[in-house]
Order: sequence, then structure tokens, then C-alpha cells
Amino acid sequence: MNFKKTERLQKLPPYLFVELDRKKAEAVSRGVDVIDLGIGDPDIPTPKFIVDRMVKAVQNPSYHRYPSSEGMLSFRQAAAEWCSRRFGLSLDPASEVVASIGSKEAIAHLPLAFVDPGDVVLVPTPGYPVYHIGTLFCGGETFYMPLTADNDFLPDLDSIPADILKRARLMWLNYPNNPTAAIAPDWFFPKVVEFAREHDIIICHDAAYSEMTYDGYKAPSFLETPGAMDVGIEFHSLSKTYNMTGWRIGFTVGNREVIAALKQAKSNVDSGQFEAVQEAAMAALSSDQSCIAEMQHIYTERRDTLVKGLREIGLDAPSPSATFYVWCPVPSGYTSADFCSRVLEEAGIVTTPGNGFGDPGEGYFRMALTVPVERMQEVVERMRKIL
Ligand SMILES: *Cc1c(COP(=O)(O)O)cnc(C)c1O
Repeated sequence: MNFKKTERLQKLPPYLFVELDRKKAEAVSRGVDVIDLGIGDPDIPTPKFIVDRMVKAVQNPSYHRYPSSEGMLSFRQAAAEWCSRRFGLSLDPASEVVASIGSKEAIAHLPLAFVDPGDVVLVPTPGYPVYHIGTLFCGGETFYMPLTADNDFLPDLDSIPADILKRARLMWLNYPNNPTAAIAPDWFFPKVVEFAREHDIIICHDAAYSEMTYDGYKAPSFLETPGAMDVGIEFHSLSKTYNMTGWRIGFTVGNREVIAALKQAKSNVDSGQFEAVQEAAMAALSSDQSCIAEMQHIYTERRDTLVKGLREIGLDAPSPSATFYVWCPVPSGYTSADFCSRVLEEAGIVTTPGNGFGDPGEGYFRMALTVPVERMQEVVERMRKIL
């Protein structure tokens, strides 16, 4: 047998967490009490009322058959109403909303609808790897837009070359941002809408962290911007908002032609999410949202403990007003990889080297706020000892 893999698989960048996972496993096998701030996966369980709804829903035999790929209309209605209450959007559930099997699924599948070989996709770097990979799998070309501190981790739209813009079909954006924790200032989305119109580029906004915000900050939807519904779509996820990463449920909203094309692509590769999961997700979206305030409170405490501690030991840690990441410059004299290796080997703490998310992430490391306050204090103590 010849198991030669396709070029698209051979061209995949090395998976960010493989080397880290190996080092972590090695430390665990040495008996080290490892503290994992590596992967962005909430440690807090899904709120009980959502789990309880699932327990009931799973017993409904009508849910045991194939779901529709686009999602139940009742789920899409609940998603549209949530967007209305939260952002003031007025969306037609039938044509402007589609369910996803987690937003990663929709993000990976969207290029099937719009990217042909030779087309360009504009992708922020450092960033979520799936934007590039979806492009690669369609034979498209990624043009990376660097996110740097000098530009407040926003892409410099005016620096994108004209020949790239001519071939560009999609632009990915993600605010609040993973991994930099940056937020979009008020002027930015209106500028993006104008840019999209001028260059005929579909804007794809990943809003996975829209509810993970602190100190009274409320993240906007891209679609609130006047004209945005004409140029783009937005990917929402229940994963971070309701601690539901394992459930695999999200939704995509926005321009009806783009949504229709996404539905068409998706319906040929997946058969939708289990309807019991959709019903539990409806309970989450339709609830009084007090679980979100509780989640925000927990992460605020963890953030404050970590940031204060890191600053006391001389690290220049910014305090994020959104996401559950601290994106911190490494101390001078280290590369991102050297610093993260040292922190793992000598302090037993897993962090992610910034360059793993793209070259402009070099010089940073990312810590996820995924352990309780007591463990955060332990993180600071261990870092103090090695620095
Ligand atoms: C966590 C995350 C998502 C959400 O992924 P799901 O597939 O919905 O679990 C999407 N985008 C970014 C940038 C993320 O960090």
C-alpha cells in the first residue's frame, strides 16, 4: 500500500501543543505537580441548569434521528434572540443564522464556500491556527496580517499590498483576541466595513470571547457596525461563554448570502449537532445569563492574583479586560521557547510560547487563567523562585 499523504497534510504547520504535551507528560512522569496554563479550556464545569436540561432532552426520541445540518429553527431563534438582547441585532433565524458543531467547525468549513486555489485569505498572526488551515485545505493562499503591540494588536489594513487585495476573498478578525487578549477600539470596525466594501472582501469575525470580559467592559459585535451585515458574518460559540467546550455547539450569523453558502458547504460534509445538545444550548442562551456574571467574577480574581504577582517579580504583565489569557512579554535574554521550557522544567508550569501562534508572537508567552486562585498563588511563588 502507498499511504502517501496529500500535499495539504504535508504542508500543515506542526501542531502547537505537541512538543508542550510531550514535555508536560515527561514532567508528570517524574512526579512533578504540574500546573497547566497551556490550553484555553475552561476548568469550571458547565452550569447545572444546562446539564439538567441535557439529561431530560437526551430522553426525547425525536432527537435520536438525524438533525438538520443548519440546526433546529428553535435553536436558531434562541441564537437570534440572544444576539438581539446582547447586541441589539435584528436577525432572521431562517436565513441569517446557522448552527455549528462548535465554531471551529464553521471556521474551518467557510473557505469551502469562498476560497478557490490561488485566492488569498487575510489572517491575523499571532492567531487561532484554524483560519490558516481552512485556507490551506482549499488550496488558498494565506496572507498574514501581523498583530503587534505598536499597533495595539490590530492589523494595519493600509499596509496590505494592492496585488494581495485584488485576490483576497476573506479577512479573519478576532476581538476580544486570542492569544493577545486585545480588544477592538470603537473606530476599528467602521474602518473594517469601509475597507471590505472598497476591496470586496468578506469579513469573518470570530467572537468566541465576546462574553469573557471584565471590569465592566462589554465587547461589541462586529455586526452592530452600520453596514456590517452587507459585508460579513460572525462566529459565536457557547464553549467559553458557558464552559461548554466539550459539547461542541456554536452558531454563525450575518449576511444572508454568506450564511446560505456556508449552509450549502456544511450540509455536504456534516449532519448537524445532536438536537439534545441544541436544546441544552437553547436553555443556556435563553437563561438570565447570571452564570456569565459568575464566570466573569471567577476569572477576574484569578487574573488579578496572577497579574499582581507577576508584576511583583518583575514581569511586565498587562491586565487583560477580556479573554482568559495573559499575554506577557518574556524577560529580556530569553526567546519565547527558552522561557516556556525553563518555566516548565524548573517550576512545573505549562505556558504557551507566543511564537507558536505565529512569528510576531515571538517575545511573548501566554498563560490561560484555567486554575483556581490558590493555584495561581502557587504559580507566582514558583516563578518567583526561578526568576
Ligand atoms: C476557543 C476558541 C474558539 C471556540 O472554538 P469552539 O470550536 O467553539 O469550541 C474559536 N476561536 C478562538 C480564537 C478560540 O480561542
